[in-house]
Amino acid sequence: MTVDVNRIQRSLLDRRRELFETVARVEDDLRWLDTNVEPEAAEEGQEENIARLLARLDDRCEGCGERIPAARLDAMPTAVTCVDCAAMRERGPG
Ligand SMILES: [Zn+2]
Repeated sequence: MTVDVNRIQRSLLDRRRELFETVARVEDDLRWLDTNVEPEAAEEGQEENIARLLARLDDRCEGCGERIPAARLDAMPTAVTCVDCAAMRERGPG
């Protein structure tokens, strides 16, 4: 039995080309996702989340950005606004 080296080599080269094409396609897809989908949608939400997170870490009012008094946070740990802004929100805009 003889081994057809040329045939095997050709088939391996074919396989390699297929793999390269697959990788190239996947990379294209990832690039497309990077440039077309992720940035706006994800970043906007992310910035909002980060801003909110930082605001929470710093115990700052979401309404006016002032520091929320510790006494208020003691009474209401989930408070995201100072008393003034909370009252204003309850009354509604205007
Ligand atoms: Zn406030």
